[in-house]
Amino acid sequence: MEALPPEEAEFFDHLEQELHELSTALTLPLPRECLVCYVYRMLDFGCHGMFWMRRYRDLRAPRATALEERMCRRGGYCDCEMLQNAFRPNHYIFECTPDGEFLMEPMPSCIGVRAGSTRPCDLWFD
Ligand SMILES: [Zn+2]
Ligand SMILES: [Zn+2]
Repeated sequence: MEALPPEEAEFFDHLEQELHELSTALTLPLPRECLVCYVYRMLDFGCHGMFWMRRYRDLRAPRATALEERMCRRGGYCDCEMLQNAFRPNHYIFECTPDGEFLMEPMPSCIGVRAGSTRPCDLWFD
């Protein structure tokens, strides 16, 4: 590959840094947002193993070292399986289609949990 002229190289470095900052900001848990609502939101960016649950844990609940193990025991071997197997939408809040599928849109905002918790908020049952 040909080297870029210095001003273009500088621009690309700058752009790369901005994108990095933007993606970091976009993937931060919201204040008081629970693990499950966070992972649900982040799955818009795809399932990458346990990436999102680990990111939540590292940022919000670093003492929850057994989180992965707990999720595996409940069938949550990755972020999307965690949502399918480890938690259920609260049927008092979400409506169901006649064939029993939950209507997840529009998604209400997270009800919130205390700091350091890996519990779901009241939008979910476990
Ligand atoms: Zn998955
Ligand atoms: Zn929540």
